[in-house]
Amino acid sequence: MRKRWISLLVTGLLVGGVLAPASPALAAPTFKVPFPCGQSWSGQTRSDHSPAYAVDFNRTDDLGDPVVASAPGTVDRVTDLGGTSYGKYVRINHGGGYSTYYAHLNGFNVSVGQTVGYGKVLGWVGSTGGSTGPHLHYEQRLNGADIQVRFNGALGLYWGTKTYTSDNGCSSGGSGSGTVDTSGTPLTVRSGPGTGYASVGTVADGTRVTIACQTSGTTVTGTYGTSSIWDRIGTGRFIADAYVYTGHDGYIPGVPRC
Ligand SMILES: [Zn+2]
Repeated sequence: MRKRWISLLVTGLLVGGVLAPASPALAAPTFKVPFPCGQSWSGQTRSDHSPAYAVDFNRTDDLGDPVVASAPGTVDRVTDLGGTSYGKYVRINHGGGYSTYYAHLNGFNVSVGQTVGYGKVLGWVGSTGGSTGPHLHYEQRLNGADIQVRFNGALGLYWGTKTYTSDNGCSSGGSGSGTVDTSGTPLTVRSGPGTGYASVGTVADGTRVTIACQTSGTTVTGTYGTSSIWDRIGTGRFIADAYVYTGHDGYIPGVPRC
């Protein structure tokens, strides 16, 4: 699920009888390497970069290669700064204060307001703006401040150059992934897709889960609204999708029904 249901959170806090902080930490999106599935790119970080945690990506003959969204979100900037700074760049708002920047592009393939998913081509590698050669300048930001990049949850190399291989938009295998978000309490795992099935354990808040398939079951109201979708995270192990950030409001595209 994607959309957070604030009123439920508030209710939950009151029922708990605890004055919890008003802004629970939102789970970060699962960012992926901003190039198509299977490609390997050299990503360089350096302390004199601006901003410091940005990554410059290169590979051989990269001029004109497609640049893709590193996580689902909404395009909120498609801007050409001319011969300075980012040149042609795209910004995606991922929600929860997270955004990503893709700069020095040769051209654009998206427009402001467009919803994008993993692997969506945003534009092409170029050398526009304050760039001395083709490369992708890439940033992850939280509440406007640049942060050290993570791909699939793994921290990038600071400082230095590392090869990153993309699994962005790979559809083989047909599984999906998500992050459990319960604002603290463990989420009950059921033996089937419903609250009537036996409890077979719990997963902690913030846990990354692989979703083998999805199916319809008991309707549950959780962090991300009300849904009857259940995610199978193992053999005989199901969790309510209403508590899982998958980047999608309904079924995850490409993930099979159980
Ligand atoms: Zn750069």
